[in-house]
Amino acid sequence: MEKKKKIVILGGGLTGLSAAFYLQKQVNPDEAEITLLEASPRLGGKIQTVKRDGYTIERGPDSFLERKASAPELVRDLGLGDQLVNNATGRSYVLLKDGLHPIPGGAVMGIPTQLKPFAASGLFSLPGKIRAAGDFLLPKGEMTGDQSLGRFFRRRLGNEVVENLIEPLLSGIYAGDIDQLSLMSTFPQFHKTEQEHRSLILGMKKSMPASSQKHDPSRKKGIFQTLTSGLESLVDALEKSLHSVDVRKNTKALALSHTNGRYHLQLSGGTAIEADAVIMAVPHETAAALFQENEFDYFRKMPSTSVANVALIFPKENVKMSKEGTGFVISRNAGYSITACTWTNKKWPHTAPENKTILRAYVGKAGDDTIPDRSDEELVRIVMEDLKKTMDITGMPEDYVVSRWKKAMPQYNVGHKEEIAKIYEYTSRTYPGLFLTGASFEGVGLPDCIDQGKKAVANVRGFLEK
Ligand code: FAD
Repeated sequence: MEKKKKIVILGGGLTGLSAAFYLQKQVNPDEAEITLLEASPRLGGKIQTVKRDGYTIERGPDSFLERKASAPELVRDLGLGDQLVNNATGRSYVLLKDGLHPIPGGAVMGIPTQLKPFAASGLFSLPGKIRAAGDFLLPKGEMTGDQSLGRFFRRRLGNEVVENLIEPLLSGIYAGDIDQLSLMSTFPQFHKTEQEHRSLILGMKKSMPASSQKHDPSRKKGIFQTLTSGLESLVDALEKSLHSVDVRKNTKALALSHTNGRYHLQLSGGTAIEADAVIMAVPHETAAALFQENEFDYFRKMPSTSVANVALIFPKENVKMSKEGTGFVISRNAGYSITACTWTNKKWPHTAPENKTILRAYVGKAGDDTIPDRSDEELVRIVMEDLKKTMDITGMPEDYVVSRWKKAMPQYNVGHKEEIAKIYEYTSRTYPGLFLTGASFEGVGLPDCIDQGKKAVANVRGFLEK
């Protein structure tokens, strides 16, 4: 790099912050100047923790998958390794019309890998189980392009396994419609398994490490991790670490142009900034507003689901559960408004005082945008009505935290990957040095966002060193 280059990162969510963190590590401050612009008064985007009266309540994400290494690595890099904690394991359930059923041991994203627990499960009728066994005989799919998760799983395992197990589990991650969500953008590994092994059940069984094939309910350590100090402490640590990044909050990018090889960003407050390279770590709706060309029409069509979650706090003795466990997801056919409930103080014991129970319930489905318009009281009432059908709850909660997320869960519907590839191809030709990244693109999970932040850094460095 000859002259001092200017790099602008747009968006201070986890993707933008990770990009800033790794960029700062990798570029010499004498050679490049980094600025991070965030529209809101705070950094962290979807990550927000409420800490009060001995509770730690996450408004947005509450944990990340430990096996995706980038998240625990970043936590350790920031000196927060001693705050890492895994979830307590315990039974999880699916709620059907007739009540709670344990998720059968060995089910991976709902795909059975052990026959006994599946055969014994009350989640499926005998014809449903026989249909699922069809997976052993069915030929592999002939589709080479994308297809919906629903289509893929219905063909392999039948409607009942999809509706009573796979759909409720997946909707917890994407808040999406299984019959619209893209197989290739969410779980391409299942397509690969089918192509390599024909049977999904046998293929999954073969590809799993022997240790994880044993269902051991006494295993204490779960597959998720969080920080005992709350996930927002990761954001705080990132912010503190950015000593050579010019972080500007309350600064919204309003317009973007590219002339003579430089980017010009018009900002709120009547200011502007120029850059040689831009990392755009903002939701696709923001990108749609910043680019006028038809080539970005996909961003104008790509839906995002609105969701809310309601954390209810009770004295321990006021909530009696008929089952021991850490929570349940709900089949659409069960006729509930909530989609899942975590018995938070059981899954994450550090989040509540010993004598309290926290129930965190989730509301919001693809295609229903009305959730964020409801009042706190209404959402609490809806959740309480549903919870009382499955638990013995005395009185109303003594406290609650309602979190609304309008158009917050980007939907990777069928064809997403190809659409994004076309946009990347167009931007690389028309906007050299500008890189789109974040939850709207290549993964919604926190580790995926960190990985995308790192990839954007590699792209910017590659561009500037050309
Ligand atoms: P965001 O966090 O959305 O950040 C984008 C930032 O850009 C925002 O701060 C925004 O203010 C800013 N911005 C927007 N427009 C402009 C502009 N014009 N100028 C400047 N700045 C702008 N993932 C998990 O791994 N585990 C979970 O348990 C989990 N649970 C979730 C629960 C909920 C309720 C939600 C909503 C998501 C959850 N996720 C979870 C997903 C994960 O939280 C998100 O995918 C991730 O945090 C997104 O990070 P991001 O930086 O890409 O985007």
